[in-house]
Amino acid sequence: MKMIIGGEWIDKKEKIDVINPFDGKVVDTVPRGTAEDVDRAVAAAQKGYEINRNLPSHKRISILKKTAEIMQERYDDLAKTIATEGSKTIKEARKETGRAINTITISAEEARRLDGETIPFDSAVGSEKRVGYYYRFPIGVIAAITPFNDPLNLVAHKLGPAIAGGNAVVCKPATVTPLSALKLGKCLLDAGLPGEILSIVTGHGHEIGDALVRDPRVRMISFTGGVEAGERISKMAGLKKIGMELGSNSPVIVMADCDLKEAVESCVSGAFWAVGQNCIGVQRIYIQRSAYEEFRDAFVARTKKYKVGFQMDEDTDMGPMITETEAKRVIEWVEEAVSQGARLLTGGTRKGTVVQPTVMEKMPPGAKLDCQEVFGPVVSLYPVDTLQEAVEKSNAVDYGLHGAIFTKDVNNAFYAIKHMDVGGIIVNDSTDYRVDLMPFGGIKKSGLGREGIKFALQEMTEPKMVCFNL
Ligand code: NAP
Repeated sequence: MKMIIGGEWIDKKEKIDVINPFDGKVVDTVPRGTAEDVDRAVAAAQKGYEINRNLPSHKRISILKKTAEIMQERYDDLAKTIATEGSKTIKEARKETGRAINTITISAEEARRLDGETIPFDSAVGSEKRVGYYYRFPIGVIAAITPFNDPLNLVAHKLGPAIAGGNAVVCKPATVTPLSALKLGKCLLDAGLPGEILSIVTGHGHEIGDALVRDPRVRMISFTGGVEAGERISKMAGLKKIGMELGSNSPVIVMADCDLKEAVESCVSGAFWAVGQNCIGVQRIYIQRSAYEEFRDAFVARTKKYKVGFQMDEDTDMGPMITETEAKRVIEWVEEAVSQGARLLTGGTRKGTVVQPTVMEKMPPGAKLDCQEVFGPVVSLYPVDTLQEAVEKSNAVDYGLHGAIFTKDVNNAFYAIKHMDVGGIIVNDSTDYRVDLMPFGGIKKSGLGREGIKFALQEMTEPKMVCFNL
């Protein structure tokens, strides 16, 4: 495919191959964008901003609604694109496509609710004759930088609210999965979005990232990805607003009073969804000691039933990892933990990019799998004596995106809600739960700010104050 600059489809001699991670076959190519392409995209976006801020919101609403309709018509192709350029199974990809359509639909709905409020000026002595209000004003040109693991919906989470709020956007999708983003861009343009409002520049982050991030015409960077890139971007950005959706190594607490069967089912799915390449994927499970063995044995038995392999087979439960380098890294982390005393309960092997779902116990404190983000299909089980101990261990990491607790005791639930240091707590489901309208984001190294359309719209607009002196 070509890339999009100011609504125009642009090709280049220099290409990047888009590879199916299962068999290494080339799915398509995209242009290898340069700093000059970024410069042109930002210049177009400045014009796009003038256009979009002056569009009545009913026009933005109708464009976004039409986009959702077009996405629905192209549902099968979008799902297939996610599953062939990325590592989701076709079943997972269909779910992501449905969610992305929902994300764009909610963006259309929220564009109607961008309201302000009146200010009680007469509460200040000397301001008795003042009246006024604020309304929300678009921030300007937004750079949207997105990761590979949800290549359609995470792009929709930036483009939808950016456009709904009256901004222009320059998106840089992950180099390994640019096609889903470009196809979403095509849906928006086919729905009548004025071209200048949207650019999707393909190219390597280390080659074009700095040009985009440092550009003073860009007023906000909305980034989803890893901590390393996030920190570099924060340093390079200069004076602009920053939204950061970063990683985690999510903890789940399983109390003995819960429905263990449900907890097992939900934690297995939460650990291995998208091959564990999931920012809210389950990585650490703290189980009350009296239920530990029963939970562990059921968890391992369920994991062993997983069918791993080609993403497009309808009965595949888990596809390949995104690259062989990533698959190798995951196995290295497992081997390192084993050499430090961890016990492998199942998995721990790979063939090419296909890693078997892996369950471990006796994980030594300080092992990479214990405290860093594995972003792969590896989960560790830990027995704990008390809820307090489980919460302390859950919190003893640099991340804080989602946490979860399984319990039938409301006091346990409220204890976890109060004391777990995370941006969102799920009670009686795994950490891997999100709907696209809820506020989503983390604390500590998991990020800054919140997404979820209503909340992203707040981040992507600013209050403009109006005061009449009567
Ligand atoms: P990544 O390596 O950080 O890349 C994310 C994006 O940043 C890609 O488009 C990448 O481009 C770009 N990038 C890299 N270096 C850059 C630079 N110096 N300047 C500008 N852009 C740069 O992350 P990933 O491997 O794609 O995704 C995995 C990470 O994302 C995990 O840590 C995961 O937890 C996190 N994540 C978080 C959320 C959330 O909502 N909190 C959701 C999903 C994923 P290239 O592809 O060209 O390198």
